[in-house]
Amino acid sequence: MGAKGLRPVIKIIKENCVNCHRCIMVCPVKMCNNGAGDVVEFNSDLCIGCGECINACGHNARVGIDDFDAFMNDLKAGTRIVAIVAPAIAASFNGEFLKVNGFLKKIGVKGVFDVSFGAELTVKSYLAYRHQKHPATIIAQPCPTLVSFIEMYRPELIPFLAPADSPMLHTMKMIKKYYPQYVGHKIVAISPCYSKRREFDFVGIGDYNVTFKSIQDYLTRTGDRITKYASLPYDNPPAERAVLFSMPGGLMRTIERYDTTVASYTRKIEGAPEVYHYLAHLGKVIRDKKTPFYGLVDCLNCRMGCNGGPGTTNQGRHIDELEGNVEKRSGAARAHYGNTKAQKISHKKNKLDNLLDDYWQEGLYDRSYVDRSDIFKRAVKFPGSQDIQAIYATMYKKTERDILDCGSCGYASCEQMAVAIFNGLNKPENCRHYIEIQKRLINEQHKQEIEHSINTVYGHTLGEMNKSIDGIGSLSNHINETATSVLSSSSAVEQMVERIRSIYENLEHNAKTVLKLNASSLEGKNRIFEIGELISQVSTQSDALIDACKIIGDIAEETSILGMNAAIEAAHAGDAIGKGFAVVAGEIRKLATNSGHQAEEITKSLKNIKALIDNSTKSSTQAQAQFDIIVSLVDAVKKEETTIKDAVESQNNGSQQVIQALNEVNALISKIKDESAALLVSGNAVIDHIQSLKEV
Ligand code: SF4
Ligand code: SF4
Ligand code: SF4
Repeated sequence: MGAKGLRPVIKIIKENCVNCHRCIMVCPVKMCNNGAGDVVEFNSDLCIGCGECINACGHNARVGIDDFDAFMNDLKAGTRIVAIVAPAIAASFNGEFLKVNGFLKKIGVKGVFDVSFGAELTVKSYLAYRHQKHPATIIAQPCPTLVSFIEMYRPELIPFLAPADSPMLHTMKMIKKYYPQYVGHKIVAISPCYSKRREFDFVGIGDYNVTFKSIQDYLTRTGDRITKYASLPYDNPPAERAVLFSMPGGLMRTIERYDTTVASYTRKIEGAPEVYHYLAHLGKVIRDKKTPFYGLVDCLNCRMGCNGGPGTTNQGRHIDELEGNVEKRSGAARAHYGNTKAQKISHKKNKLDNLLDDYWQEGLYDRSYVDRSDIFKRAVKFPGSQDIQAIYATMYKKTERDILDCGSCGYASCEQMAVAIFNGLNKPENCRHYIEIQKRLINEQHKQEIEHSINTVYGHTLGEMNKSIDGIGSLSNHINETATSVLSSSSAVEQMVERIRSIYENLEHNAKTVLKLNASSLEGKNRIFEIGELISQVSTQSDALIDACKIIGDIAEETSILGMNAAIEAAHAGDAIGKGFAVVAGEIRKLATNSGHQAEEITKSLKNIKALIDNSTKSSTQAQAQFDIIVSLVDAVKKEETTIKDAVESQNNGSQQVIQALNEVNALISKIKDESAALLVSGNAVIDHIQSLKEV
């Protein structure tokens, strides 16, 4: 990768980022972050991989990158791999750390080596360097984050970095040199740290960096437990007190085995931001060509050392709990070698020294460093004072008092923020002072807008409201008029209904009368018919009487003729006989003549009667015809009456419905009247409020 750029070891999950800028606040180098957008992004080339932002981000937007997936996939594919395990394992897996060896072997790792033994070799390298070169100071380099920091941001300290490999690289080189059976095997580092991967890139050894956290996550994900695996020893010799290397001061305490005075010339320092402030100060001492106070700087990036590294899950745990596990292991390791006490540097070698000699070779573990500060210089430009002032102007910083240096933006000072803005890595909107002024300006603006709005309300809305009130008033009048006219309509309809009802009653009465008339007409008609019949019979009988009178007349005539003949005969018979007979015959003739006259008179009378009867018959027939007309007219009247009655009845029903509807309309209008009155009251109240608004 060279000086061109650094492998990303941290990534951002943008959708989780809430743009709180806490990552910038904790970042020791600041300018790798870009806070100018809606999420804070970062430039991997400028990031030293310290992991501070991972621990600080409460939104899981920053996560570390390791090689767990590649390691597992290659292992499954049959790649031969050996593992080296960092000393911090004792803190992360408590008393079960040797079971991690069982787990690794179970999944196919061929050999497992303890980096603590590499740390013992590291101490040997340091002491050799110090003994041979007598440097003014030695800056410890087991922490790859601090090495990256010095190479990129404090290159003046590079000459003071121990020119020896880290414990991990000591272990890797040891495997390559002294374990020929693992030639061709790839090496996985089981570590508490994401930035370790970069060390492999820089030195060109090491293939995978797998964090404790990834292994623990894997076990959790698969429902597995480390306790079920066998505790297996490492495949290299055991370390002694270098197992303490994972905790702050571990280097110093290991050197103590040879030099009990080491604490007097060692600066033990760890954790951001202190270690970075310290290195900045040390850089100044060097630039000022002064002699550093301490001959050894035992430094680590993380506050609890590697035991609390970003690749562990130990951030919330107590330091005593973590270090207690490590101290326990250290006690056992020292007991193993019979070194329970510190000893003065001695040329008398013990068992451990002899063992270390077996894995030591002059120059094998040498390390050099690269000045990578050009990456930073290329990426970040420093503005002149005029540029700074121009940027301050955009942040409303006009006087010294406006330079708050409050750190709210995430930077250590306003000037650092101005540098970030100059490089497009931040924006004035993220400055607390800027926000305050903006707030004030916005308040002012709002005040003016509110005043304007109130005036508008007063001058315009009030007018509109008055119009509305007028409208409501006239609406109210309309409603009242409507109510009155509905009421009068209502009474008119009621009168009409009353009239309809009376018509209906009259019609009912008429119907009864018509029915009676109809019955009387029928009866009259029948009577006339009967009279006609009787007259007809009288007429017939009159004819018979006339005939009888004619017969009487005929008989009377014949009798008269006979009387005349008898008289003639009596005349012939003489007076004696004929005289009496002639008297009879004369009487007979007189009777016959009288009868004839009477018959004629009767016939005359009968004919007169008959003529009268015939007239009566004609009149009776005409009367019948008249009655027929009367009956049919009465019938028609009855039908018409029924039709009118039905119509009036349905009109009566309809009218009842109209009345009901009018009653409902009345009720509704009364409600509307009430509401319109209430509306009027509310409208007037609104006007009062609007008027009082202006007084506010
Ligand atoms: S700490 Fe940084 S990465 Fe995390 S949410 Fe805040 S701004 Fe985003
Ligand atoms: S890992 Fe460290 S250097 Fe990198 S962005 Fe995070 S805090 Fe900054
Ligand atoms: S005043 Fe603004 S620029 Fe200065 S430190 Fe505070 S937030 Fe950052």
